[in-house]
Amino acid sequence: MERWPLYIDGAFVWETDRPALEVVNPARGDVIAEVPTATPDLVDRAVAAADRAFAPWAAKPARERAELLLRAARLMRDRLDELATLLTREQGKPLAEARGEIQISAEYLEWNAEEAKRLYGETIPASTSQKRLFALRQPVGVAAAITPWNFPSSMITRKIGPALAAGCPVVVKPASATPLSAIALMKIFDEVGFPPGVVNLVVGPSREIAGRLLADRRVRKISFTGSTEVGKELMRQAADTMKRVSLELGGHAPFLIFDDADLEAAVSGVIASKFRNAGQTCICANRLYVQRGVADAVEELLAKKIAALRVGDGLEPGVEIGPLIDEQAVAKVDRHVQDAVAHGGKLVVGGTRLEMPGLSRQFYAPTLVLDPPKTALVAEEETFGPLIPMWTFDTEEEALALANNTPYGLAAYFYATDVRRVVRIAEGLEYGIVGANDPVPTVVQAPFGGVKESGVGREGGHQGLDEYTYWKFLSLGIG
Ligand code: NAP
Repeated sequence: MERWPLYIDGAFVWETDRPALEVVNPARGDVIAEVPTATPDLVDRAVAAADRAFAPWAAKPARERAELLLRAARLMRDRLDELATLLTREQGKPLAEARGEIQISAEYLEWNAEEAKRLYGETIPASTSQKRLFALRQPVGVAAAITPWNFPSSMITRKIGPALAAGCPVVVKPASATPLSAIALMKIFDEVGFPPGVVNLVVGPSREIAGRLLADRRVRKISFTGSTEVGKELMRQAADTMKRVSLELGGHAPFLIFDDADLEAAVSGVIASKFRNAGQTCICANRLYVQRGVADAVEELLAKKIAALRVGDGLEPGVEIGPLIDEQAVAKVDRHVQDAVAHGGKLVVGGTRLEMPGLSRQFYAPTLVLDPPKTALVAEEETFGPLIPMWTFDTEEEALALANNTPYGLAAYFYATDVRRVVRIAEGLEYGIVGANDPVPTVVQAPFGGVKESGVGREGGHQGLDEYTYWKFLSLGIG
């Protein structure tokens, strides 16, 4: 059995009297590695190491911090195949998607490395000739990063890229289901020569570890990606020590197709948005609304494309849909499908768990359901699986009201060609990210994040670095 250690204060450690965590390949159900679960003492050691590393790391010229980040990114690109295969083995997504994730993961380091050199402050005109006024950008201090399993590599570099660029050491806690990609990143940071304590990684009981990190005054910032429920809990805990908080939480994305849309492109867009990562992305389409005049054509095209999707082990060539992360995830998709159908929705394609020789029972057939009631689970919650419900609408006002009728506000999509309509709908959607005729909007150089209960703060773009700095006003008397 492979044993993958934690990374604390520049050393790989396996020091715990607790049972190790078993990492399971969701496609085949076999245990692929063991990872130690951190005790509270190890979490404290990681924070202490980061705290010691803070002043010297922040004092380094930005160019030197940038160079280390660039070296790490280069090594990630050199090891693309190895890292992508590891990611697919622990998470399940098709290898082509895993390769894409490693590439964007490296790009988060590269982009933030460049941006480190542009963290400009300001000079402010004084009210008297006896003073000079400056606004300085300062790193906030030690940052804790808690990440989910659906993007085991890129959710980490999207946080630690800007943190390290800004001068903040980090303690990372990846999801228990997918710690290996995170540890592989630590090996790279170690190899390229990051000073001890600048990057640390702990794995283990999430509530306990998060509680420890949040109660510690030395931790000045928490960045979390995961469910809205846990995000709210962490925000409450962070209030006690008034930490800076960024929360990238759940979504419930609407996807609108108007009658002037290029239908072929729109339906391909639904497939790309909904079924990437087997529907396990925070920004994936969760509700499809189609204007009445084109609804039949969309249904027919979409059903055909969904039925043609190839499901299997992500390591096999040509597979487009891998397994879901665990049994609970499969049960949730099935619950949403059964609930939709029991309440009058029409099952068009899919709707069953898939049994395949040699593979686990964690595969679900890509599914399309028509017209479930507006109170169905699928209409109200993020499914996080390969199920798309479809409804029709008549007017733009109705489409916007349906799209915005949710406590979530992460991503929304629409397809239309009339430029006046495109502007009206883009402006009317209450979401942090809008893909207009674009089903995959995520890029490193743009701000990514939600409104309403989808979170606070932004990752990516120059806004991503703002989350790790504060403004210090310096008033200099020269009289
Ligand atoms: P999750 O259950 O909230 O877990 C996310 C992380 O939080 C994991 O590291 C998890 O650790 C930890 N965690 C779980 N319960 C915790 C608790 N009570 N206290 C502290 N930490 C806790 O979410 P998930 O199921 O892994 O991820 C899926 C969710 O993430 C979806 O809602 C999705 O929309 C959202 N997401 C959002 C974005 C975005 O950018 N907005 C991106 C990706 C995913 P363990 O695994 O060890 O329990």
